[in-house]
Amino acid sequence: MTRERWVEVGRILITGLIAFLYWRQLVPLPVLLVAVAIGLYPLVKTGLLDLIHEKKVGTEIFVTIATLVAVLGGETVAGAVLMVIILIAEFIAELNTDRARASIKSLVGSVPQVALVRTTSGEQTVSLDKLQVDDIVLVRAGEKIPVDGHVKSGAASVNEAPITGESLPKDKVAGDLVFAGTVVASGALDIQTEKIGVDTTFSRIVALVENAEAKQAPVQKLADKVAAWLIPVVFVFLIVVYLVTRDVRMIVTLMIFTSPAELGLATPLVMIAAIARAARSGILIKGGLYLELLAKVDTMVFDKTGTLTANKPEVVAMESCNADFPETEILRLAAAADRLSAHPLAKAVVTHAQRQNINVPEPEKYEQLQGRGVSATIEGRAVLVGNAALLRESGVSLESAVEKGGQTPVHVAVDGQFVGVIFVADTLRPGAREALANLRASGVKRIIMLTGDNAATARAVATELGVDDIRADLMPEDKVAAISELQKQGHRVAMIGDGINDAPALAKADVGIAMGGGGTQAALEAADIVLMTDDLSKIASARAIARRAYRTVQENLFVGVGVVHVLGITAALMGWIGPIEAAIIHLGPDVLVFVNSVKLLRVRIPGV
Ligand code: ADP
Ligand code: MG
Repeated sequence: MTRERWVEVGRILITGLIAFLYWRQLVPLPVLLVAVAIGLYPLVKTGLLDLIHEKKVGTEIFVTIATLVAVLGGETVAGAVLMVIILIAEFIAELNTDRARASIKSLVGSVPQVALVRTTSGEQTVSLDKLQVDDIVLVRAGEKIPVDGHVKSGAASVNEAPITGESLPKDKVAGDLVFAGTVVASGALDIQTEKIGVDTTFSRIVALVENAEAKQAPVQKLADKVAAWLIPVVFVFLIVVYLVTRDVRMIVTLMIFTSPAELGLATPLVMIAAIARAARSGILIKGGLYLELLAKVDTMVFDKTGTLTANKPEVVAMESCNADFPETEILRLAAAADRLSAHPLAKAVVTHAQRQNINVPEPEKYEQLQGRGVSATIEGRAVLVGNAALLRESGVSLESAVEKGGQTPVHVAVDGQFVGVIFVADTLRPGAREALANLRASGVKRIIMLTGDNAATARAVATELGVDDIRADLMPEDKVAAISELQKQGHRVAMIGDGINDAPALAKADVGIAMGGGGTQAALEAADIVLMTDDLSKIASARAIARRAYRTVQENLFVGVGVVHVLGITAALMGWIGPIEAAIIHLGPDVLVFVNSVKLLRVRIPGV
């Protein structure tokens, strides 16, 4: 507990004690009035600040007015007790919100603050702020990795759950990428430091989760709007009741139940809990806004390469179309051009060249042409690697499109001459079919595949998966156009991509979901939701969490706030309860909303 919290406890005790003494007629009225002033001080302060900065009338103003009305109307004890009970309620609510936030942080875990560094004079423990890029950090079994980097030597099995939510440990050897915050389960690693502190993937995830609260869901904005609109109605209502009954006690009681405070509380806590829950299964959601949108999505658009496919793309055949360029030479140049590309097909080409022990040169110049391929200069020659559109666009004549039963052709041109094709077979990700079926079961009406690949390959994949519609030969901007067309037809669209060639489409969709397991920073930046494991079944999990969260918000609003308040107002009007009972009952919805929201952290959600 912080100092401020202790001050609050003191305030509650003092005002409570004096109210009690006054009731027993042990202190005179002026003392009670001073106590009320002490108790009201923080309420008036936050109340006025909210009013000025956010133009909203919160519980604080309501309680202040209720207390003043009670005291001025002669119900002094009731007023004081009511104020004390509300102070206690607010105190509990604040503590609980603090705890919910803390639990999110503990879910995502932490990164060690020191690292064991290999230096010329042996090993040395260095604090993270002294650590430098390229330092070699030693991590042993049972320890957390403090930095992002590649393994220099050693072998270990690493639990990456803090990043991916995947609890099966992964084997890491020299050359593999490891992340800060993950744990070496067995073995030991020498890691070459690449990213430290706030730059690590882990820190970025924590920052995203922490900032998620800022992106409010529309239902929250709606709740705030309703609350603002309710206030004048409530005042008119209270004045009318007073004119009819002239009963100060009843007015004070009613005021407690007409305060729209929980309307504001009903949503954010649910969103925090849902985001934490998702983070634990390797799903990164950047705000409550996206939870609500995902719950409402009726159309899902998938990118093909790298998203539905790219289990392990393999070069399966080659064709030389120019006598001067034998297959190995085509492969050598294509691999050189593709060396720096993160595209899954590029990786297949490079791996194939390495397997054949081809010596792949460094490109002198290199450019990734979004959605088409790459253009590079190798040993002074201009090399193009990509789809047919790329070659045509650059004025290379292609007699006919080369196609081969469902395989993706990667065309190669050298100095403006078409020289040959590399065929890549790109298998589906495991579980892709079931993942799509599950999404349909969760109410997604249309599933569409967009691809920059040719129509034949797209069709082959589509039949295997059972998607409703395909659009092939698309440029990145065509994908954006396809999405905005669907939106114009009134659909709510989620786009699922890998962040390579489809970042604009991810941004255009109502919800952009990216495969983030490859560690591409582009995906992490462009998407609203990131799947840290590249596991398509996580989309259905994310949707299940989203729908559950949305339902919880509705429950909170209608049951916690609506029903309790309607019953309370009725009971007050009937004269069944007075201000003190009302203040106690009023704790009910606070607790209810809290319990119902935090439940999300633990409750069973199918597929999560
Ligand atoms: P998708 O839309 O299915 O994800 P992309 O937009 O990523 O496909 O790529 C479209 C096409 O562009 C691929 O089928 C491939 O022919 C070509 N291409 C893109 N980048 C590369 C690359 N780095 N190397 C080879 N071919 C590429
Ligand atoms: Mg792709």
